[in-house]
Amino acid sequence: MESTDNPKWDVEATVQITDIDDNNLNDDIEMEVLHMQGLQRNRTQLDTWHSTYNVEYCPGSLWWKDHALVVVGNNDLERGVTSEFHNTLMAGHPGIAKTTSEICKYYWWLGIQDFITEYIKGCTTCQMNKVNTNPLKPPVYSITPVPDALPFQTIALDFITKLPESLGNDTILTITDHDCLKASIFILCKEAVDSEGVAKLYMQHVIPHYGLPNHIRQRYPVYK
Ligand SMILES: [Zn+2]
Repeated sequence: MESTDNPKWDVEATVQITDIDDNNLNDDIEMEVLHMQGLQRNRTQLDTWHSTYNVEYCPGSLWWKDHALVVVGNNDLERGVTSEFHNTLMAGHPGIAKTTSEICKYYWWLGIQDFITEYIKGCTTCQMNKVNTNPLKPPVYSITPVPDALPFQTIALDFITKLPESLGNDTILTITDHDCLKASIFILCKEAVDSEGVAKLYMQHVIPHYGLPNHIRQRYPVYK
């Protein structure tokens, strides 16, 4: 239907709220949508949408796209509609797909999908409640010590590497007692040291004092 012939363009839309038969819609928002549709300054926009997006002017001074009321001329109004369907206690912060499909039952505006997506991405409540499915840090598990353990029976090995070279060494092998003392022994070595080299260092620096270990702990749990 052609809008340009309608004489009511300079006055607010005269439709009654009861013309829209749905109690779920918020009356204030609905009134504002109708008000904005009726403003002269939004007419060009609606005419453009009429030719480009099949937006129709229907009896009762209403602009529709299929079964959805057309929201025009006000970003605050778009936010208001989105908030009504997403933020309220009743709405309960549904996801992007759910929010979009609910809003699209009642309203349309240009770029509605992107608008809702961005809105929800920026929703603080949703961000706070988001389940992190890709944690950057592995969770920390405590390792229960063996009761009555002797010093250096249970140990953890680690290396501090990339140090400035000193007397041909650039690395420190750290041997930490895990279950008894939490003491560490620091041994100078080279970063290129292999397992045989570590065994030799262990024999030389630890075994004479504490004997062989029963357990060697992994410093950090391994995650897939
Ligand atoms: Zn939210």
